[in-house]
Amino acid sequence: MHIISALCIRPQAGAAIAFGLLIMEDKISENAFVMPGDWLGVEEEFSSADNTFVDSDGAIRAAIIGNVHIGNGKISVRNPNWERRKVERGMLVLGTVTDDMKSVAFIKLDTIRMNGIEYFAIKDGKIVAERPGGPRGRPFGRDREGGRPERPAPSGKQCGVGDVIIAKVLFDDPDVYTLGIRDREAGVVYSECPLCGTHMAVEGPGMLSCPECKDREPKKVSALYGKPEEIKRLFGK
Ligand SMILES: [Zn+2]
Repeated sequence: MHIISALCIRPQAGAAIAFGLLIMEDKISENAFVMPGDWLGVEEEFSSADNTFVDSDGAIRAAIIGNVHIGNGKISVRNPNWERRKVERGMLVLGTVTDDMKSVAFIKLDTIRMNGIEYFAIKDGKIVAERPGGPRGRPFGRDREGGRPERPAPSGKQCGVGDVIIAKVLFDDPDVYTLGIRDREAGVVYSECPLCGTHMAVEGPGMLSCPECKDREPKKVSALYGKPEEIKRLFGK
């Protein structure tokens, strides 16, 4: 009897392991429990829906802890207590300037939280030096208060490497978010002196200055510069 039991158990255990590998590599089942970053499928199979994202290799991955739902060619992850979305066009975001080239600055975007929803960026943002008519010559929309169209800002990107900025997502392009910093809250919210590293102070509209070495840097200064509590209220709810 003992020998028969042993023979029965071993093939079953082997089959379970093989089946487990098969699930991980080839197929994910409805209602499977997944963790952030878990592989769910490929874009040829499904379109990436709620709480999932597509990585640079075209694999669909879970953005949150939850259960898989598959339907109508879409794959999503559900969790009644946790919602996570991709950064979308029109919203304000927070990030740090990582590169400053002649006509474009690149921004690493933070994960932010607004009204109980966590927003994550799957790509970097860029700010294009402004020309009359705005980036790429497209006309600007109306500002958030409704009413007046946004005024063209003076030329230049108006932020530098290391600056923490608030920006609005103007366009959601395939490999980058195009950002604008014209809104009242938008612009630099934290900046260090490029010469001595001291925290810059606001000298006036569009101008930061160093309390130590007196260096002056023209920047688009946010209305929330030096107000971490207000920034937290905006992005930490
Ligand atoms: Zn300085």
